[in-house]
Amino acid sequence: MACPRRPRVTHTTLFPWDNTMTTSPYPAARDAQAQWATLSVAQRCQRLMPVIDILSERMDAFAQLIHEENGKPVFEAVTHEVSASIGFARWLLSNAPRILADTQLSLSVFPHRRATLQRVAYGTVLIISPWNVPLFIPVSGALPALVAGNAVVLKPSEVTPRSSGILAEALAACDLPSGLFQLVQGTGKVGAKLIRDRPDKVIFTGSAATGRKVMAACAKHPIPVTLELGGVDAMIVCEDADLDYASSAAAWGSTFNGGQVCASVERLIIHRSVADKFTALLIDKLERIDIHNDLGKICFDGQRDVYRRHLDDIAARGLNVATGGSFIANDSKLAPTLVAGEGITQAAVWTDETFGPVVAATTFDGDDEAVRLHNSVDSGLTASVFSADKARAKRLASQLRAGLISINDVGATLYGQPELPWGGVGHSGFGRSHGETGLLDCTWSRVVEESRLDIFEPKRPWWYPYGDRQRAVMESFGRALAGGGRINQLAQIAKAGKAAWQMLTRTPRL
Ligand code: NAD
Repeated sequence: MACPRRPRVTHTTLFPWDNTMTTSPYPAARDAQAQWATLSVAQRCQRLMPVIDILSERMDAFAQLIHEENGKPVFEAVTHEVSASIGFARWLLSNAPRILADTQLSLSVFPHRRATLQRVAYGTVLIISPWNVPLFIPVSGALPALVAGNAVVLKPSEVTPRSSGILAEALAACDLPSGLFQLVQGTGKVGAKLIRDRPDKVIFTGSAATGRKVMAACAKHPIPVTLELGGVDAMIVCEDADLDYASSAAAWGSTFNGGQVCASVERLIIHRSVADKFTALLIDKLERIDIHNDLGKICFDGQRDVYRRHLDDIAARGLNVATGGSFIANDSKLAPTLVAGEGITQAAVWTDETFGPVVAATTFDGDDEAVRLHNSVDSGLTASVFSADKARAKRLASQLRAGLISINDVGATLYGQPELPWGGVGHSGFGRSHGETGLLDCTWSRVVEESRLDIFEPKRPWWYPYGDRQRAVMESFGRALAGGGRINQLAQIAKAGKAAWQMLTRTPRL
């Protein structure tokens, strides 16, 4: 089935491909959101169900489009984009009514009262997305925001506009108020203008450098922002790990999508006693990757510049390029590259995101050293620990500064598990997408508190006028809350009760 060059768009607004955008998408979005918010969560989920059918029916065409535009192999476009989007949508649309349902809260200090916690849509959510996962990132940002009752304005990367239009096409099959989802194409300047025009929430996925600008722009209003940024994610390989399995994981985890993955394995921390054996296995596997069919292309020129900078830094430091290190296939790809050597932990390939098929390796002796090496960088998105000893692996994991850690798998795999809250710490950003947390992050919480009893409400002892009786009530109350044994608590409650009775009967309300 042929895929159109432009998405068939009915409920979206396509703005021009330049920076002269004068129309704001927000008025239409707000009108649509007002209607959308009157539906129940279950009704919204029902209306969004056709997305699953469209993605499933047109899987091949969509994967081909992503392959052509982004350069990732068709297999990865099917697996990491279209199928992952279907799995995510299926989980979300089945679970959102439960997750967003009102919660009843009992109150410990005043047990005669109770509260209801409600989740309220922000209004209009602006989603700014990158080029490396041009379908699944917009899907996993936009669908939760919509389900939660928001309108969505999506500003995808200017590098992959057609792939990001797939979501618009899928949503066009849904019965949504016009303007509820709008696709606004353009460069970073368009993204900046969309923030200036004041959405109610921003979900940004991209580089740490742009993330800082986005946060500064949001701070002016202020607009709540989720930042999903990059990382230099590490794999720890213990001496008891299955080295053949772990080296296969490292070969894939460091190079799939041409290494252009936020959760790519960029650092290896290998137990010294198995380092030679592990790296020999890994070099062999990196050199056996089918670079024509299985290795993703460099998506755009800006990437090549980063690789050149990092390769120059490696050369200047005299590090050992164990394999790779050069551009191949008419400069459309970088060969899978493994770098090691004295001083590697100061090199750019260790401290800064390469976002390419490059992995830097070092060794450790004790687990404390592995933790220290892992936590020596500013970012922390995902990590992985490979060991036959699960208890040891869990102990290590509990000390790593990263948002998601996998034991005996690479962290990037966790992106495909819809239940898991995705996001990092430090320079990898904050806030979460995916999972219950990601869905709740598309809402703010509202508490409605009330009496359990339909009888009179006595004057509160902390209201005016202040006086000795009020103070006696509050002192006894505070001591009762402090505990100190059941008998003491009962005595304090009795004292507070007596003082409260006197206050109620002898002190008039203000
Ligand atoms: P980028 O920061 O260059 O651009 C991201 C988006 O921001 C694009 O849509 C761009 O047009 C827009 N933009 C640029 N300047 C802007 C501004 N001033 N105001 C508003 N929007 C602006 O990132 P990229 O090169 O597209 O993507 C690669 C980066 O994304 C890598 O660092 C990668 O690690 C990160 N990433 C993170 C995750 C995650 O989940 N944590 C996932 C994928 C990619």
